[in-house]
Amino acid sequence: MDCSICTTMPFILRPPRNTICAACYEGARNLISLVNKFDGDISSNHNHKCGEKSGGTNVISSSNLSCKGFANVLKWVKEMKDMEEELNDKISFLGEFEAAFKDEIHTDILVKPGNNGPPIPAHRALLAAKSEIFKNMLDSDDCKEAPNEAITLPELNHDELESLLKFLYSGSLPIEKVEKHVYSLSVAADKYEIHFLQKFCDRQMLNSLSSSNALDILEISDVCSNLTLKDTALNFIVRNMEDIVFSSKFESFALKNPHLSVQITRASLMDIKNRRNNAM
Ligand SMILES: [Zn+2]
Repeated sequence: MDCSICTTMPFILRPPRNTICAACYEGARNLISLVNKFDGDISSNHNHKCGEKSGGTNVISSSNLSCKGFANVLKWVKEMKDMEEELNDKISFLGEFEAAFKDEIHTDILVKPGNNGPPIPAHRALLAAKSEIFKNMLDSDDCKEAPNEAITLPELNHDELESLLKFLYSGSLPIEKVEKHVYSLSVAADKYEIHFLQKFCDRQMLNSLSSSNALDILEISDVCSNLTLKDTALNFIVRNMEDIVFSSKFESFALKNPHLSVQITRASLMDIKNRRNNAM
């Protein structure tokens, strides 16, 4: 069938050129219903927060339109584009904090890593704003005075601490730093209750899950009590038992984490049983 949308040469079609193939028809329907769904989600979120005054100018308004069709989709895409530009401006505006960290402008606290590594200058206000735990460490109360000069994060080495601080100031990290420090940052995110960093590390671990790191990810997800990540890692290990269990890494893992080895054995047996039942 000659489709006026996806043909490479629409001009050879006979006017009024309004025939459309099944794939384009389905695609268009799906696109419209997807945008209507997003629209509904955004407007209900917006209604929940109607007490707050929005600082941005791009409150989605197309949900008010009675006409739901391609015109709505186009309007939505344009609004998203405007919103993206506004968010990019906002990110670069907030990014000036990162420069204050890099150039040590008006820093007022030293953060020390473990093992007597060199301390890194930072800002009390920023640390307190990003973590309730840091806020408590920096506060004074009846029992203790506020630390004058320094706080110590003993579980991190200098490089890991630098990456943690960089993330707190900028909300992201270069990929080589993420790959190198994702496990220690994940543990720090859990300990200091930095939820955004936790999410960031979880995403990285899920995306990089493979036979070579599944045991590390299982161990970290157990330390951080992250059940979703733990289930995913455990299922992956069960599906790739041969690669993982016969690796030299598994021996040291099993010695260090006997309870997780028991869980792997049980999950693997259940998997074999389920597959046998399904085959019958
Ligand atoms: Zn088509």
